[in-house]
Amino acid sequence: MKKIFFLRAALIAAIAAAGIAGTGSGARDSGAHYATGFETIERVEITLADLRASNEKIAMAHAALREMWTSHFREAGARFVPPRLVRHRGGARSACGVMRPNNAGYCPADNTIYFDEIFVAAQAKRAARELGTDGDMAAIGIIAHEVGHAVAIQLGYASRFTYQNESVADCLAGAFAEYADRTGSLEEGDVDEAFFAMASAADPTPQLTGDERRDRRILRAAAVMGHGTREQRTENFRRGLDGGAGACLDDFQQVS
Ligand SMILES: [Zn+2]
Repeated sequence: MKKIFFLRAALIAAIAAAGIAGTGSGARDSGAHYATGFETIERVEITLADLRASNEKIAMAHAALREMWTSHFREAGARFVPPRLVRHRGGARSACGVMRPNNAGYCPADNTIYFDEIFVAAQAKRAARELGTDGDMAAIGIIAHEVGHAVAIQLGYASRFTYQNESVADCLAGAFAEYADRTGSLEEGDVDEAFFAMASAADPTPQLTGDERRDRRILRAAAVMGHGTREQRTENFRRGLDGGAGACLDDFQQVS
């Protein structure tokens, strides 16, 4: 993604500070929270420069996401309260309990996205290596997905099925890519990078047994459980990318 959004120097200056960033609420009870469910597989080395670049991009994307959803909500006659962004290394305390390392998650109780900055930078570096691009959209896509959870929840959309919530968040991340494209900041390779990040976070394709009854049960469980398979996630993102936010949530049908 191009650098069309202003940078926030304060954010960058704080990168070197290691440790756990808390919100001060302590580890009270754990309310609902939504995590991306990534597992780190391949080890990549993250330098301070990588971290700085990744966090810069995330700060820019956060500003763009705030702008996009604020105007979408306004047009839909609602008010968006942008989620805060808290980065951590190795876990953080939130109003939803402890946010795990190697992950990113949205906590509705304190309207905050928590992300492990090393993990997110590593996802971008992996994507860059694999695709021969700058990889930034892999990191941005993670944040766009988490903001997607905030958007859906603030509109009162919450399914009791994880997969439904995740598919909406993926679709809204796709809608952000569409917005970036419209505003001229989507680069060659960005969409592939987003797909790369989602593929590495997808649930495994359900293994069918050939037994009709058992397979039906397996498929039903897979459909409600997680983020979806690689194909489902890509398809959900693509829906937002092609159709904008209106393709993800009815509230935005007149807007985008
Ligand atoms: Zn999610």
